[in-house]
Amino acid sequence: PDIPTLTQLYEKGQLKPAKATRHEPNAELLNRVSLFQGDITLLELDSIVNAANRSLLGGGGVDGAIHAAAGRELLKECETLNGCETGGAKITRAYKLPSKHIIHAVGPVYSRSDVETRAKQLESCYQTSLEIAVKEGLKHVAFCCISTGIYGYPVPAATHIALDTVRRFLESEDGSKLDRIIFVIWLNKDLDVYESLIPEHFPPA
Ligand code: ADP
Repeated sequence: PDIPTLTQLYEKGQLKPAKATRHEPNAELLNRVSLFQGDITLLELDSIVNAANRSLLGGGGVDGAIHAAAGRELLKECETLNGCETGGAKITRAYKLPSKHIIHAVGPVYSRSDVETRAKQLESCYQTSLEIAVKEGLKHVAFCCISTGIYGYPVPAATHIALDTVRRFLESEDGSKLDRIIFVIWLNKDLDVYESLIPEHFPPA
């Protein structure tokens, strides 16, 4: 597929990341990033990231799958959290899931008329989730493709934001505290996008 580069999206005004960078090869960073195609509820990791809504009380898509698999105890804990603003994230235990924790990130609903705000909110979901993981001493974080399902965010633009934000975090001081970031892909067409764009953000040495 013909997937726009970060720079092309930036030039068309469809994306406003902090910087449209071309990265130097860094094999060490690339080695800490993985792609997994399949169901995020099956993974056994320190944390998985849910694409939640502001209520944090469950919903459709991956949120529904996570709540169904984790059980009622998850909903009970979520009820104590008082929701979460768009772009934010909150952590819970994972109950019946094999993973230890769930980070519930609230992605933006996509809007063509407000691309810049939505891009910042999506970036903030990834950044905040990573900050929470480090604060809690968690070593791995598995992200689903936040906002690209029911919330309608175009997959290439969302993928550039996901990869760019994770790349910058791994390069930061706190980034060295994380062993592995896993991008969890559900759909074949989304896997193509990740496979095409990873070399742009994590070029092999
Ligand atoms: P949003 O409302 O943030 O768009 P969705 O749940 O609709 O959230 O979609 C987010 C992403 O999660 C999409 O890429 C969708 O294909 C994917 N997805 C749906 N079910 C699962 C699952 N069980 N495991 C991993 N990813 C999933």
